[in-house]
Amino acid sequence: MNIVIVGLSAGGLSCLKTLLKYSKDINITAITNEDRIYSRCLLTYLLGRELGEKDINIADINDFRQINLITGKNVTEIKREKKTIVLEDGKEISYDKLILAVGADPLRPTYTKEENNVFTLRYLREAVKIEKRLKNSVVVVGGGYVGIKSAYGFYKRKVYTTMVVTSPYPLSVTADEETGRVVEKELIKMKIDLKLKSDVIDISKKEGLAKVTLRDETEIHCDAVIVGKGVKPNIKLAKNAGLDCENGILVNEYLQTSDKDIFAIGDCAESFDIIRKERYINAIWPVAEEQGYFCALNILGRDVSYPGSISMNSLKMENFHLITAGLLKGDGIKTHTLWHKNKNQFRKIALKDDLLVGVAFLNNPEDAGVYVNLIKKGDTRISNPEEFLTTTPVSYYKI
Ligand SMILES: Cc1cc2nc3c(=O)[nH]c(=O)nc-3n(C[C@H](O)[C@H](O)[C@H](O)COP(=O)(O)OP(=O)(O)OC[C@H]3O[C@@H](n4cnc5c(N)ncnc54)[C@H](O)[C@@H]3O)c2cc1C
Repeated sequence: MNIVIVGLSAGGLSCLKTLLKYSKDINITAITNEDRIYSRCLLTYLLGRELGEKDINIADINDFRQINLITGKNVTEIKREKKTIVLEDGKEISYDKLILAVGADPLRPTYTKEENNVFTLRYLREAVKIEKRLKNSVVVVGGGYVGIKSAYGFYKRKVYTTMVVTSPYPLSVTADEETGRVVEKELIKMKIDLKLKSDVIDISKKEGLAKVTLRDETEIHCDAVIVGKGVKPNIKLAKNAGLDCENGILVNEYLQTSDKDIFAIGDCAESFDIIRKERYINAIWPVAEEQGYFCALNILGRDVSYPGSISMNSLKMENFHLITAGLLKGDGIKTHTLWHKNKNQFRKIALKDDLLVGVAFLNNPEDAGVYVNLIKKGDTRISNPEEFLTTTPVSYYKI
């Protein structure tokens, strides 16, 4: 059997390793347009100079001599009728099963121009350029996880940081206000100049620096600007090949696309979300990894259905540690928080009617795993939230 994997990051690598572990009898070609296999999650540590380029490697290209590994090349087309993929140099490679693990690209508002020192942060090549440009000051646009983690990296490096956030509090897309406000407090404590309810309207270049103009006409001059305004799944290859796509490439419970011989996993794939009970993209590393694993088993004929995903995130900055999972806001969702103010800790649950749909832990990560599993079960009902928050959650497992 000829297997072709396009993209070799969280999803593609996990799929490749699983295939290699469970079958010796397959020909695998893996193609990536990058030349290294590294953790994107660690890019902000590179910006903060806490880690070097080599520290973020998660696999060595030389580890995969038993497969046909192609690096630094784009796949430009899928020819479904011939069951081949086409590389940018015109070379065609045939497949029996094809896995698309092509991830997502950052959203780039029109002012995102590298010639004006404005960058996005998704790829190592971008982190290296940002790292080189930075001396004294930076502007981070966006108050999501990538923006906040970048700001923390700059704080570690003692680079003066301004954060421009459209919404009234950080993490507003995923977190409830109370959780967002604790993050806000922490950023202020780190002396980050946080500009909430603010927007960038233009960025130009003046005397070698980026000149950022905000909606209220404030001007900020800085070495570089990092734009963290979200991502868009890479669906072009799939769409051009006639595969069903919406926001991402649509997949069934076996992670198959609308063509049974083509699979999609990770940030490019729209698969089942356990809480939303519909297709959604939870664009996080562990979801891409577990989908890579399930996809490989299905290709090897094990017929295992992927149970679905939930979102999960962890934010660690000095002594501040926030873990969130599932949904914390949305229609009909109500949160309940147990605070230990003297320890600056809380434990929070989010319920939709009485169904557990989300959790957040501030500075007490110990129980997070148990709660996450209760959310993933998809049927944990809590009639007395106050009691639940003070008892051991293990008792909620149905035996
Ligand atoms: C700065 C940053 C911090 C993050 N921190 C966290 C975190 O703390 N926790 C967490 O869970 N998640 C985090 N994430 C998100 C996480 O990195 C992604 O969810 C994860 O990388 C998705 O993996 P993937 O394999 O689906 O896609 P990607 O990692 O996007 O990899 C896709 C690969 O395919 C390649 N490719 C695309 N198109 C083609 C083509 N046509 N031909 C050949 N190759 C192609 C791409 O270049 C890339 O190498 C972070 C992301 C960023 C950017």
